[in-house]
Amino acid sequence: MSIRFRAILIDASVSCNRPRATLPPGGKRTYNGAMDLRPQDDPPLRCRRCRIELTPGRGDFYVVHVEAVADPSPPFFTDEDLARDPRAEIERLVEALAGLSAQEAMDQVFRRLAFLLCGPCYRRWIDNPVG
Ligand SMILES: [Zn+2]
Repeated sequence: MSIRFRAILIDASVSCNRPRATLPPGGKRTYNGAMDLRPQDDPPLRCRRCRIELTPGRGDFYVVHVEAVADPSPPFFTDEDLARDPRAEIERLVEALAGLSAQEAMDQVFRRLAFLLCGPCYRRWIDNPVG
């Protein structure tokens, strides 16, 4: 399985899909308050690791996208594999997948998630993302 990490400095992608807020967190109007698209009743954004509250527009946090893909290499077949009855192999695979939901089957080969990290947590994470 290959894992690819991609981290980007916070941008509008966090809040662009949300409805417009009446006031930014804390109730203070700022010069770019009209660009804060988070509704007031949304829970505050928090760092995934330390849970500190994050403020959009301050540039003090990161959105980390993680994408994990099962080995994308072409399958390797032995002579023994090729000697098997393909119909029986297909039936075996169908039976193995029968107990799984479509999502569970998909999760076995592809996962994508995103989370927020504050600056200090990001710097610790990026230096050792699998530690
Ligand atoms: Zn943190």
